Amino acid sequence: MSFDNTLEFARTKDQNDPLSKYRDQFFFPSFHDNEVVYFTGNSLGLQPKTVKKYIQQELDDWAKWGVEGHFDAKNPWFSYHELLTPKIAKVVGAKDKEVVVTHSLTTNLHLLMVSFYRPTKSRYKILCEGKAFPSDQYALESQAKFHGFEPSDAIIEVFPREGEHNLREEDITSMIAEHADELALVMIGGVNYYTGQRFDMEKITKAGHDAGAIVGWDLAHAAGNVELALHDWGVDFAAWCSYKYLNSSPGGVSGLFVHEKHAKNEDLPRFAGWWGHNKAERFQMKPGFHPIEGAEGWQLSNAPVLGMAAHNAALDIFEEVGMEAIFKKRDNITAYLEFVITEISASSDKADFEIITPKEQHRRGAQLSILAHGQGKALFDAMAKAGVVADWREPNVIRIAPAPLYNSYEDVYRFGQILKSAIQ
Ligand SMILES: *Cc1c(COP(=O)(O)O)cnc(C)c1O
Repeated sequence: MSFDNTLEFARTKDQNDPLSKYRDQFFFPSFHDNEVVYFTGNSLGLQPKTVKKYIQQELDDWAKWGVEGHFDAKNPWFSYHELLTPKIAKVVGAKDKEVVVTHSLTTNLHLLMVSFYRPTKSRYKILCEGKAFPSDQYALESQAKFHGFEPSDAIIEVFPREGEHNLREEDITSMIAEHADELALVMIGGVNYYTGQRFDMEKITKAGHDAGAIVGWDLAHAAGNVELALHDWGVDFAAWCSYKYLNSSPGGVSGLFVHEKHAKNEDLPRFAGWWGHNKAERFQMKPGFHPIEGAEGWQLSNAPVLGMAAHNAALDIFEEVGMEAIFKKRDNITAYLEFVITEISASSDKADFEIITPKEQHRRGAQLSILAHGQGKALFDAMAKAGVVADWREPNVIRIAPAPLYNSYEDVYRFGQILKSAIQ
């Protein structure tokens, strides 16, 4: 692929982009004097313009039906989550019965670990990536403690090698093999939130299973961003949030995956609630919990319909576009962004922008993390002032993600121009 860092080139790319028409289906923030370059879809995806209509439908039905809306609303609330199941199943590569949209991400990780982290005296360790997202660290530590283990002993973190930014997969798999006798669980983020590194989830899942461990994935930065085949990879469980690449509202509802092989296992310990109970008997209010077969059996409560309506609106766009088209544009636009940054870095004698995200497309998604050598926060502040909405991490890392559904090649060009003029 050959690129040019010119407005003309970027506009031609946009004209030939089959997804360019979707940009207009999203609201871009308008708080700024300048038109924004929104590259933070990895943190909070933009609002689809259709969200209002989907939520309004539920508000209207609530007004009209009151409690009867559970069965008489246009989309009955009793089974509202079922509307989302086939749509999200496609995003994560699962069978319908393996997924359910429910709760929030960290809640789901805990609920899944209650079932799938079942340590014994000799096999109790959890392997995760070093510097995992803080919520995941807290979740893992508290799970270890809950079972009476010392986190510093029970949790094995794998770090990049000295002088490197990314984890080597062979270091993960060899660490798994090394601890094969004592490993209960492998749980890693499918795409690292900080570096944007995407892992070979199939390979790591297999390595975990070969060691006799259960393997779960946090897909917060992966769902809607990268190719997933959770069923085929034999992943035991996974959870993700919907408000990052899936554009489904701040704090929006999460999704969880439980592989079919565990669907009928009523012996798995779990924290139960009425929404996970056999649907036919749910309103009989009888004692004795009998879980629904499959992922739905992990639900606790009746669905937060308004938030789910936002998710439904966003997923309908994914349905219409199709994941393959999204991934194709992702690779193109991310490569263009990489080209533009590299060119600007090469032409500056004050700044050296090192992209710490892997170069290979199969090892990343839409996010690039830039280490801004020679620059400090003033660079980022100047960029923000000029309209770039991105993410800064001390001491000098900028995280940006061009979302294939709504970012344009012209956004990338403008980002480059602002980056260049912001160099201190
Ligand atoms: C965004 C993110 C979270 C957030 O968890 P919530 O429960 O949705 O607040 C957790 N883990 C990872 C890896 C994330 O990227």
